[in-house]
Amino acid sequence: MYPLQLENGRYISIQRQLYPDLIAAHLKGFITIGSYALDRHSVAKWICLDADDQLRWQKLIGLAQTLTAQGVTPYLEPSRRGGHLWLFTPPLSGTDARRFGKQLLADHKLDKLKIELYPKQDKLVTGPGSFVRLPLGKHRLTNKYYPFTTLEGQPLKSPAAATPSIRDQIKVLTNPIRVPKEFVDSLIARSPVPKTHSPTPKFEPTPEPAKPKKPSKKRRERYDSKPSERIKSAISVSDFVRQYIELDDQGRGHCPFHEDQINSFSINSDHNFWHCFACERGGSIIDFWMLWRKKQGENYSFKATITDLAHKLLK
Ligand SMILES: [Zn+2]
Repeated sequence: MYPLQLENGRYISIQRQLYPDLIAAHLKGFITIGSYALDRHSVAKWICLDADDQLRWQKLIGLAQTLTAQGVTPYLEPSRRGGHLWLFTPPLSGTDARRFGKQLLADHKLDKLKIELYPKQDKLVTGPGSFVRLPLGKHRLTNKYYPFTTLEGQPLKSPAAATPSIRDQIKVLTNPIRVPKEFVDSLIARSPVPKTHSPTPKFEPTPEPAKPKKPSKKRRERYDSKPSERIKSAISVSDFVRQYIELDDQGRGHCPFHEDQINSFSINSDHNFWHCFACERGGSIIDFWMLWRKKQGENYSFKATITDLAHKLLK
Protein backbone atom coordinates (compact mmCIF):
# COMPACT_ATOMS: atom_id res chain seq x y z
CA MET A 1 0.00 0.00 0.00
CA TYR A 2 1.44 3.38 -1.00
CA PRO A 3 0.43 6.94 -1.86
CA LEU A 4 0.71 7.92 -5.54
CA GLN A 5 1.04 11.53 -6.64
CA LEU A 6 -1.18 12.60 -9.53
CA GLU A 7 -0.17 15.07 -12.22
CA ASN A 8 -2.07 17.80 -10.37
CA GLY A 9 0.12 17.33 -7.30
CA ARG A 10 -2.49 15.55 -5.19
CA TYR A 11 -2.20 11.98 -3.92
CA ILE A 12 -4.32 8.88 -3.94
CA SER A 13 -3.77 5.79 -1.85
CA ILE A 14 -3.00 2.65 -3.87
CA GLN A 15 -4.13 -0.52 -2.11
CA ARG A 16 -1.50 -2.79 -3.55
CA GLN A 17 1.89 -4.08 -2.61
CA LEU A 18 4.77 -1.74 -3.30
CA TYR A 19 7.19 -3.65 -5.52
CA PRO A 20 10.84 -2.59 -5.91
CA ASP A 21 10.29 -1.74 -9.58
CA LEU A 22 7.83 0.95 -8.50
CA ILE A 23 10.51 2.50 -6.30
CA ALA A 24 12.85 2.36 -9.31
CA ALA A 25 10.13 4.04 -11.40
CA HIS A 26 9.87 6.75 -8.73
CA LEU A 27 13.63 7.35 -8.77
CA LYS A 28 13.61 7.56 -12.56
CA GLY A 29 10.78 10.08 -12.43
CA PHE A 30 8.10 8.03 -14.24
CA ILE A 31 5.81 8.06 -11.21
CA THR A 32 5.96 9.76 -7.82
CA ILE A 33 5.05 7.97 -4.63
CA GLY A 34 4.89 8.89 -0.98
CA SER A 35 6.15 7.17 2.12
CA TYR A 36 3.88 6.54 5.10
CA ALA A 37 5.45 7.72 8.32
CA LEU A 38 4.25 4.78 10.40
CA ASP A 39 4.26 1.10 9.55
CA ARG A 40 1.22 -1.04 10.31
CA HIS A 41 2.45 -1.57 13.86
CA SER A 42 2.64 2.22 14.34
CA VAL A 43 6.43 2.19 14.37
CA ALA A 44 8.43 5.08 12.89
CA LYS A 45 12.02 4.96 11.67
CA TRP A 46 12.27 8.63 10.84
CA ILE A 47 10.70 11.94 11.62
CA CYS A 48 10.31 14.69 9.06
CA LEU A 49 9.90 18.39 9.74
CA ASP A 50 8.12 20.18 6.91
CA ALA A 51 8.55 23.91 6.30
CA ASP A 52 6.22 25.21 3.64
CA ASP A 53 7.88 28.56 3.03
CA GLN A 54 11.36 30.07 2.90
CA LEU A 55 11.16 31.74 6.31
CA ARG A 56 10.43 28.46 8.10
CA TRP A 57 12.92 26.64 5.90
CA GLN A 58 15.69 29.00 7.03
CA LYS A 59 14.75 28.17 10.65
CA LEU A 60 15.05 24.45 9.88
CA ILE A 61 18.48 25.01 8.32
CA GLY A 62 19.43 26.77 11.57
CA LEU A 63 18.18 23.75 13.52
CA ALA A 64 20.20 21.46 11.24
CA GLN A 65 23.35 23.47 11.99
CA THR A 66 22.79 23.15 15.73
CA LEU A 67 22.10 19.42 15.46
CA THR A 68 25.24 18.88 13.40
CA ALA A 69 27.28 20.62 16.10
CA GLN A 70 25.71 18.18 18.62
CA GLY A 71 26.80 15.16 16.60
CA VAL A 72 23.39 14.46 15.06
CA THR A 73 23.09 14.11 11.29
CA PRO A 74 20.12 15.90 9.74
CA TYR A 75 19.21 15.44 6.07
CA LEU A 76 18.03 18.55 4.26
CA GLU A 77 15.73 18.25 1.28
CA PRO A 78 14.65 21.59 -0.21
CA SER A 79 11.29 21.46 -1.91
CA ARG A 80 8.97 23.52 -4.07
CA ARG A 81 8.45 26.32 -1.53
CA GLY A 82 10.30 25.34 1.63
CA GLY A 83 11.80 22.01 2.50
CA HIS A 84 11.99 18.88 4.62
CA LEU A 85 14.39 18.17 7.44
CA TRP A 86 14.69 14.41 7.90
CA LEU A 87 16.05 12.70 10.99
CA PHE A 88 16.47 8.96 10.78
CA THR A 89 15.93 7.42 14.18
CA PRO A 90 16.16 4.01 15.78
CA PRO A 91 12.69 2.35 15.54
CA LEU A 92 10.30 4.30 17.77
CA SER A 93 6.63 4.04 18.55
CA GLY A 94 4.62 6.77 16.84
CA THR A 95 4.07 8.28 20.28
CA ASP A 96 7.78 8.47 21.03
CA ALA A 97 8.65 9.72 17.56
CA ARG A 98 6.23 12.58 18.06
CA ARG A 99 7.42 13.31 21.61
CA PHE A 100 10.97 13.46 20.25
CA GLY A 101 10.00 15.74 17.36
CA LYS A 102 7.85 18.06 19.48
CA GLN A 103 10.54 18.40 22.13
CA LEU A 104 13.15 19.14 19.46
CA LEU A 105 10.96 21.93 18.08
CA ALA A 106 10.25 23.27 21.57
CA ASP A 107 13.96 23.25 22.52
CA HIS A 108 14.71 25.44 19.51
CA LYS A 109 11.66 27.66 19.97
CA LEU A 110 10.18 26.47 16.69
CA ASP A 111 7.04 24.96 18.19
CA LYS A 112 4.85 28.00 17.48
CA LEU A 113 5.90 28.32 13.85
CA LYS A 114 3.51 25.88 12.20
CA ILE A 115 6.30 23.60 11.11
CA GLU A 116 4.66 20.26 10.43
CA LEU A 117 5.91 17.15 12.18
CA TYR A 118 5.63 13.70 10.58
CA PRO A 119 4.40 11.21 11.72
CA LYS A 120 1.23 13.11 12.50
CA GLN A 121 -0.36 10.26 14.46
CA ASP A 122 0.79 8.58 17.66
CA LYS A 123 -0.90 5.43 16.54
CA LEU A 124 -2.77 4.20 13.48
CA VAL A 125 -6.45 3.70 14.02
CA THR A 126 -8.47 3.47 10.82
CA GLY A 127 -6.06 4.18 7.97
CA PRO A 128 -2.40 4.27 7.02
CA GLY A 129 -1.87 7.75 8.46
CA SER A 130 0.28 10.58 7.21
CA PHE A 131 2.93 10.40 4.52
CA VAL A 132 5.67 12.48 2.95
CA ARG A 133 6.67 12.48 -0.70
CA LEU A 134 9.41 9.88 -1.05
CA PRO A 135 12.65 11.80 -1.68
CA LEU A 136 14.68 11.75 -4.89
CA GLY A 137 11.68 11.59 -7.21
CA LYS A 138 10.03 14.20 -9.36
CA HIS A 139 7.35 16.50 -8.02
CA ARG A 140 4.51 15.94 -10.50
CA LEU A 141 3.41 19.56 -10.40
CA THR A 142 6.78 21.13 -11.16
CA ASN A 143 8.31 18.12 -12.95
CA LYS A 144 11.48 18.81 -10.98
CA TYR A 145 13.80 16.81 -8.79
CA TYR A 146 14.67 18.19 -5.36
CA PRO A 147 17.93 16.58 -4.27
CA PHE A 148 19.33 16.70 -0.76
CA THR A 149 21.69 19.51 0.14
CA THR A 150 24.42 20.25 2.63
CA LEU A 151 24.02 22.89 5.35
CA GLU A 152 25.54 25.35 2.87
CA GLY A 153 22.98 24.52 0.20
CA GLN A 154 25.34 22.52 -2.03
CA PRO A 155 24.12 19.18 -3.44
CA LEU A 156 24.81 16.43 -0.91
CA LYS A 157 27.43 13.89 -1.95
CA SER A 158 29.25 11.01 -0.30
CA PRO A 159 32.98 11.47 0.40
CA ALA A 160 33.70 8.73 -2.16
CA ALA A 161 31.86 10.41 -5.04
CA ALA A 162 33.70 12.78 -7.35
CA THR A 163 30.59 14.76 -8.28
CA PRO A 164 27.11 14.87 -6.76
CA SER A 165 24.49 12.68 -8.44
CA ILE A 166 21.07 11.25 -7.66
CA ARG A 167 22.62 7.77 -7.82
CA ASP A 168 25.14 8.75 -5.16
CA GLN A 169 22.44 10.31 -2.98
CA ILE A 170 20.41 7.10 -3.18
CA LYS A 171 23.47 5.30 -1.79
CA VAL A 172 23.85 7.83 1.01
CA LEU A 173 20.16 7.64 1.91
CA THR A 174 20.03 3.84 1.72
CA ASN A 175 22.23 3.76 4.75
CA PRO A 176 21.54 7.01 6.59
CA ILE A 177 23.31 8.03 9.77
CA ARG A 178 20.70 7.59 12.48
CA VAL A 179 20.18 9.86 15.46
CA PRO A 180 21.94 8.29 18.46
CA LYS A 181 19.49 6.49 20.77
CA GLU A 182 20.78 8.43 23.82
CA PHE A 183 19.99 11.71 22.11
CA VAL A 184 16.44 10.59 21.31
CA ASP A 185 15.93 9.25 24.82
CA SER A 186 17.21 12.44 26.48
CA LEU A 187 14.65 14.54 24.59
CA ILE A 188 11.79 12.14 25.22
CA ALA A 189 12.66 12.12 28.93
CA ARG A 190 12.09 15.88 29.05
CA SER A 191 8.93 15.86 26.95
CA PRO A 192 5.43 15.89 28.40
CA VAL A 193 3.73 12.52 28.57
CA PRO A 194 0.81 12.47 26.13
CA LYS A 195 -2.68 11.75 27.34
CA THR A 196 -3.30 8.04 27.25
CA HIS A 197 -5.78 6.83 24.70
CA SER A 198 -8.20 4.00 25.10
CA PRO A 199 -7.06 0.85 23.31
CA THR A 200 -7.38 1.37 19.58
CA PRO A 201 -8.58 -1.19 17.06
CA LYS A 202 -5.95 -2.96 15.01
CA PHE A 203 -5.05 -1.27 11.76
CA GLU A 204 -6.74 -2.70 8.70
CA PRO A 205 -6.21 -1.19 5.27
CA THR A 206 -9.24 0.79 4.17
CA PRO A 207 -10.96 -1.07 1.31
CA GLU A 208 -11.51 1.90 -0.99
CA PRO A 209 -8.70 4.14 -2.24
CA ALA A 210 -9.02 7.69 -0.98
CA LYS A 211 -10.45 9.85 -3.71
CA PRO A 212 -8.37 12.89 -4.54
CA LYS A 213 -10.09 16.18 -3.91
CA LYS A 214 -11.20 17.85 -7.07
CA PRO A 215 -8.77 20.61 -8.00
CA SER A 216 -10.25 24.09 -7.98
CA LYS A 217 -11.73 25.19 -11.29
CA LYS A 218 -8.97 27.70 -11.86
CA ARG A 219 -6.22 25.16 -11.17
CA ARG A 220 -7.99 22.58 -13.33
CA GLU A 221 -8.22 24.92 -16.31
CA ARG A 222 -4.61 25.95 -16.09
CA TYR A 223 -3.52 22.37 -15.72
CA ASP A 224 -5.77 21.02 -18.44
CA SER A 225 -4.66 23.66 -20.87
CA LYS A 226 -1.08 22.36 -20.99
CA PRO A 227 -0.81 20.45 -24.31
CA SER A 228 1.63 17.94 -22.79
CA GLU A 229 -0.96 17.01 -20.14
CA ARG A 230 -3.77 16.82 -22.69
CA ILE A 231 -1.64 14.53 -24.85
CA LYS A 232 -0.86 12.27 -21.90
CA SER A 233 -4.53 11.96 -21.03
CA ALA A 234 -5.71 11.49 -24.64
CA ILE A 235 -4.54 7.86 -24.90
CA SER A 236 -2.93 5.29 -22.62
CA VAL A 237 0.78 4.56 -23.09
CA SER A 238 -0.18 0.96 -23.85
CA ASP A 239 -2.65 1.83 -26.63
CA PHE A 240 -0.28 4.34 -28.15
CA VAL A 241 2.87 2.22 -28.09
CA ARG A 242 1.07 -0.86 -29.46
CA GLN A 243 0.47 1.03 -32.69
CA TYR A 244 4.21 1.04 -33.32
CA ILE A 245 5.70 -2.05 -31.69
CA GLU A 246 4.50 -5.54 -30.93
CA LEU A 247 3.87 -6.35 -27.31
CA ASP A 248 2.63 -9.53 -25.66
CA ASP A 249 -0.36 -9.74 -23.32
CA GLN A 250 1.81 -8.74 -20.39
CA GLY A 251 2.89 -5.61 -22.23
CA ARG A 252 6.41 -6.88 -22.92
CA GLY A 253 8.32 -6.74 -26.18
CA HIS A 254 11.54 -5.88 -27.98
CA CYS A 255 12.81 -2.40 -27.22
CA PRO A 256 12.85 -0.30 -30.39
CA PHE A 257 15.58 1.94 -29.02
CA HIS A 258 18.46 -0.51 -28.70
CA GLU A 259 19.49 -3.85 -30.24
CA ASP A 260 17.20 -5.99 -28.13
CA GLN A 261 17.45 -9.79 -28.21
CA ILE A 262 15.16 -10.31 -25.23
CA ASN A 263 11.94 -8.58 -24.21
CA SER A 264 13.50 -5.70 -22.31
CA PHE A 265 10.71 -3.29 -23.06
CA SER A 266 7.61 -3.25 -20.89
CA ILE A 267 4.55 -1.21 -20.12
CA ASN A 268 3.26 -0.60 -16.65
CA SER A 269 -0.46 -0.17 -17.28
CA ASP A 270 -1.30 0.57 -13.66
CA HIS A 271 0.85 3.66 -13.68
CA ASN A 272 0.81 4.40 -17.38
CA PHE A 273 4.50 4.45 -18.24
CA TRP A 274 6.88 2.41 -20.39
CA HIS A 275 10.36 1.30 -19.48
CA CYS A 276 13.28 -0.59 -20.96
CA PHE A 277 15.40 -2.21 -18.28
CA ALA A 278 18.32 -2.72 -20.69
CA CYS A 279 18.83 0.79 -22.06
CA GLU A 280 17.14 2.35 -19.01
CA ARG A 281 14.90 4.60 -21.05
CA GLY A 282 11.27 5.12 -20.21
CA GLY A 283 8.51 7.51 -19.36
CA SER A 284 5.36 8.86 -20.96
CA ILE A 285 4.01 8.89 -24.50
CA ILE A 286 6.02 12.05 -25.08
CA ASP A 287 9.30 10.38 -24.08
CA PHE A 288 8.48 7.47 -26.35
CA TRP A 289 7.66 9.70 -29.29
CA MET A 290 10.77 11.85 -28.90
CA LEU A 291 12.95 8.74 -29.15
CA TRP A 292 10.84 7.40 -32.00
CA ARG A 293 11.31 10.63 -33.95
CA LYS A 294 15.03 10.56 -33.21
CA LYS A 295 15.19 7.04 -34.58
CA GLN A 296 13.44 8.16 -37.78
CA GLY A 297 15.90 11.02 -38.17
CA GLU A 298 13.22 13.61 -37.47
CA ASN A 299 13.38 16.70 -35.31
CA TYR A 300 13.02 15.27 -31.82
CA SER A 301 13.00 18.45 -29.77
CA PHE A 302 10.34 18.60 -27.07
CA LYS A 303 8.48 21.29 -29.02
CA ALA A 304 8.47 19.40 -32.35
CA THR A 305 7.40 16.21 -30.59
CA ILE A 306 4.53 17.90 -28.78
CA THR A 307 3.36 19.61 -31.96
CA ASP A 308 3.35 16.30 -33.82
CA LEU A 309 1.51 14.47 -31.01
CA ALA A 310 -1.02 17.26 -30.60
CA HIS A 311 -1.74 16.96 -34.32
CA LYS A 312 -2.18 13.19 -34.01
CA LEU A 313 -4.08 13.00 -30.72
CA LEU A 314 -5.81 16.28 -29.99
CA LYS A 315 -8.65 17.56 -32.04
ZN1 LIG B 1 15.99 -0.41 -24.71
